[in-house]
Amino acid sequence: MGPPGSGKGTQVKRLSERLGVTRMSTGDLFRSHQARGTELGLVARSYMEKGEYVPDEVTIGMVMEWIDAPEQSAGFVLDGFPRTLAQAEALDKGVAEAGGIDRVIYIRVARDELIRRLTGRLVCPKCQTPYHAVSAPPTVEGECDHCGEELYQREDDRPEVLGHRLKVYERETAPVIEYYRRSANLKEIDGEGTTEEVERALNVAA
Ligand code: AMP
Repeated sequence: MGPPGSGKGTQVKRLSERLGVTRMSTGDLFRSHQARGTELGLVARSYMEKGEYVPDEVTIGMVMEWIDAPEQSAGFVLDGFPRTLAQAEALDKGVAEAGGIDRVIYIRVARDELIRRLTGRLVCPKCQTPYHAVSAPPTVEGECDHCGEELYQREDDRPEVLGHRLKVYERETAPVIEYYRRSANLKEIDGEGTTEEVERALNVAA
């Protein structure tokens, strides 16, 4: 868990590779539905472009269906879920029989740094690799190093939407962090170092 721009996506990818388990990013899944023009994608877009959360009933159904697939039976890592108390409760209930959640990791980053990261973020539409216009630019300007696709700025990273997203995070997701703090399986790590430093801290916490 962590606010937008805390590096969840990058770290979850590395962690799932290290552990040899599957991963799922709710944001990436919503964006792939949008790219394919599905009904779910259309619904999700109307919330995402305003920096709002997609309603719980849509999100919970999508994630629990993914979790129930046989591919996930050996374990998995989630990125961007749960983000509301209702989602956390549904997840706890859904995996209780399988032994519950092993660990919740909260990547902490100060607001100024989140804004710096998100306002300069560029993303590949195909492989979702994130870049930063100033601090982590691609080799060829505007092109993904891996697939050569043209990079774009996410609609919800635009300054007009960003402030609202951070407010929604504080209102809806900060209580989820407290919820897991109480249940005692939360580990908090500093997300402001280099990707490698954060990865090391995360490997210790995981
Ligand atoms: P992300 O890529 O994780 O920053 O997510 C992008 C957007 O997708 C969020 O701002 C929400 O609009 C939506 N989204 C992602 N995960 C969730 C979730 N667990 N619950 C509701 N909306 C979500």
